[in-house]
Amino acid sequence: MNIPITKPFLGPEEEAAAAAVIRSGWVSQGPKVQEFEEKFAAYVGASYAVATTSCTTALHAALAVSGIGPGDEVVVPSLSFIATANAVVHAGATPVFADIDPDTCNVTAGTVEKMITRKTKAVMPVHQMGLPVDLDPMIDLCRRHNLLLIEDAACAIGSEYKGKRIGGHGNIACFSFHPRKIITTGEGGMITTNDFSMAGKLRRFRHHGMSVSDAERHAADRVIIETYPEIGYNYRMTDIQAAIGIEQLKKLGTIIDLRREAAGKYDQAFEGNHFLRVPHVPDGIFHNYQSYWIEILPSAPLTRDELMDMMLKKGISTRRGIMAIHLEQCYRRDALSLPMTERITGNTVLLPIYPAMNEAELVAVVQEIRNLLPA
Ligand SMILES: *Cc1c(COP(=O)(O)O)cnc(C)c1O
Repeated sequence: MNIPITKPFLGPEEEAAAAAVIRSGWVSQGPKVQEFEEKFAAYVGASYAVATTSCTTALHAALAVSGIGPGDEVVVPSLSFIATANAVVHAGATPVFADIDPDTCNVTAGTVEKMITRKTKAVMPVHQMGLPVDLDPMIDLCRRHNLLLIEDAACAIGSEYKGKRIGGHGNIACFSFHPRKIITTGEGGMITTNDFSMAGKLRRFRHHGMSVSDAERHAADRVIIETYPEIGYNYRMTDIQAAIGIEQLKKLGTIIDLRREAAGKYDQAFEGNHFLRVPHVPDGIFHNYQSYWIEILPSAPLTRDELMDMMLKKGISTRRGIMAIHLEQCYRRDALSLPMTERITGNTVLLPIYPAMNEAELVAVVQEIRNLLPA
């Protein structure tokens, strides 16, 4: 047995689409990026989508064009991949860490509100592992305190909050196409918004602050001399990546169905095991199961790390639960204590889950956990 933690769902369709772009002679940001953006916006139900090189650069762009910078604070979860906080630092602002609800592993309006100060300009909740944050109270909180709501939706493509897909609830949402996420373009990101002026600012920011795109200039029947009203970055996706992304979007429904099916089997297999706890999905939430975690409870005969070690010896890859950013050296502040975040990061483990996972692989994971945690 050799069971990976994840496996991208790529096939001959993506191969052919990438080859067609290479043959076309236009490989940088162009018609395929535009097509991918339009299809992505339509899929999530947002007015505009802007492609970037990653979710990290998407988050940085979102903060920068919102005017968030030195002296400003942005409330984020500590229980997240480090890029969430890094993006705030790259914008020149200060990340302030909020604790989570251990049932969902997400920040709530309650945990965020405790961290709001006069310097707070935005809240950047994470739909952790694809499970949407309880957005209605978060939107209400942001309105009351006049804060921007920027969603780190890196893992949340296709997940729904109260019947509506993630991507159009807050002011801005940022997605990732890293292979660990739901669909992939190798590397890549996408920003969605319903704000026309914000979309324009984001398009210029990812293109060196330039007033026109390469495609517009190429298509023009007269000479266009570009201008640079603001300073930007090169955060452009390539047309090769976008062509792969367009094919991945076609498979997204199947990918999510297969992930949910595997998660359902895990839920069933672990039901009643009093050495562990499985994810809780609140009412009104449709979960894409970007990751599936279990919490090893204090009564268990072995620790999380021992369990991971034993599983690896059997050829089954697992990962520790989501990291806690405030415990990393580069962010450590002695005074800060986030009890729920510390409990979840220390005791949870991510199990293998991917669309092509077969029955034998799933049974092997379940059997091994039952052997180690015989409840
Ligand atoms: C993966 C991830 C990111 C970073 O995405 P990249 O596309 O790799 O930059 C940011 N935030 C969260 C919550 C993530 O899981």
